Amino acid sequence: MSARTDWDVLVVGGGPVGACAAALLQRVAGKARRPLRVGLLEPARPTPPAADAPLDARVSAWSRASERILRAAGAWEHMAPQRISPYERMCVWPETVPARSPKVLVFDAAYAAEANLGVIAENRLAQCAALEAFAAAGGTILPEALSAVTIGEQGVEVRTGSSIERCRVLIGADGANSRVREAVGLFAHAQSYGQKAIVANVRTERPHERTAWQRFLRTGTLAFLPLADASSSIVWSVDEAVAGELLAMDVPRFEKALLTASDGVLGAVRLCTERAALPLRRVQAERFTAARCALIGDAAHVVHPLAGQGVNLGLLDAAALAECVARAHQAGEDPGAVGPLRRYERWRKSELAPMALAIDAFNRFLAHGAGPVSRLAQRGLSWVNRSDEVKRFFVTHALGLAGELPDAARRGDAWLS
Ligand SMILES: Cc1cc2nc3c(=O)[nH]c(=O)nc-3n(C[C@H](O)[C@H](O)[C@H](O)COP(=O)(O)OP(=O)(O)OC[C@H]3O[C@@H](n4cnc5c(N)ncnc54)[C@H](O)[C@@H]3O)c2cc1C
Repeated sequence: MSARTDWDVLVVGGGPVGACAAALLQRVAGKARRPLRVGLLEPARPTPPAADAPLDARVSAWSRASERILRAAGAWEHMAPQRISPYERMCVWPETVPARSPKVLVFDAAYAAEANLGVIAENRLAQCAALEAFAAAGGTILPEALSAVTIGEQGVEVRTGSSIERCRVLIGADGANSRVREAVGLFAHAQSYGQKAIVANVRTERPHERTAWQRFLRTGTLAFLPLADASSSIVWSVDEAVAGELLAMDVPRFEKALLTASDGVLGAVRLCTERAALPLRRVQAERFTAARCALIGDAAHVVHPLAGQGVNLGLLDAAALAECVARAHQAGEDPGAVGPLRRYERWRKSELAPMALAIDAFNRFLAHGAGPVSRLAQRGLSWVNRSDEVKRFFVTHALGLAGELPDAARRGDAWLS
């Protein structure tokens, strides 16, 4: 076992959120008078997709705020534009309403005077771009997993399989089953939704019209996200038993089931990748910080994918924490002291709580229910449809531009300058 570098900040987990946090800190360190040593532990660094490779089925809707954070991190420029699909509107409708009827709820970017609501892009593309940006800014990626943590007054000692690292701030960005969270004793409420999300890419008879389509069904939700090669990515969240039946179907039967569940909104559907199924659960850490340690992204909170917010919320955590840590460091303070970490925690917890509640309410009452509350919620949708003001409110949230934003989410590459 070899003792290695003393880091100011050690980020554990180089998923899109951890890689962005590390890149933001490394870039701001490059501009600052006081050097900041940033290390990143990631045992499973993926290879970037080749320019002409088919699109992965694991994609996300990245909000405008996320795009700006990726720009501030220097990652956006590493994301091949031909693999990115801007989307201009979302069409949302419950099972009781016919597709393409005037009752379908349309959220257009134009309500917020924006050209689009964000982009659909592969998770791997953004993750690899953020890792590349971190390395290009002089950051060090250690290809190892964290196994144990000891917190002292002056710093944190981190054990990996082959080394001992020391740091002043430890950032846990190691996903829903966070080892950091467990090792520093932060409790998380975790609850299964009893659902699985089936993801795959499909070709549709009708063009996707740069629109994200989402139908609320009694058994869950079905979304079609528009991709850059004119295909669409489906995210079909259903009760576990239904998921089992759908996965057991042969391809033609599954395609027929998709046509029925989508009410034919994009015509006939042809699968162009394998189907994958991901179990869905809600995770909420009670505290986001411990002494010299902060959690970000899925390590702190996991929400239902129906609102397409998980990674967007995580990137806002990354930018908020990077800002608190960088400001403390530039002011000559200890970046791992209680002050900057508590500031981060208060900020992000107050922004996250209403969003997590809203997402759960959508899942319970729109995507599942058939009772009186659900009927009321569906009536609420038609009320939303009648008010441009309310639609503007939802569009601003979809863009990720509501609430108190970190500097990187407001100003992109010009953050903290
Ligand atoms: C079906 C589905 C659809 C979704 N769609 C959207 C969407 O449209 N929009 C959206 O915003 N969100 C979406 N999400 C959510 C989004 O995928 C997650 O919120 C996001 O991937 C979380 O990123 P992360 O970096 O926090 O964690 P992860 O992506 O889980 O990354 C964690 C990293 O930590 C590393 N790691 C793990 N353990 C260790 C260890 N011990 N030591 C070191 N490293 C470690 C792992 O190798 C991994 O690279 C969706 C989720 C699902 C399931």
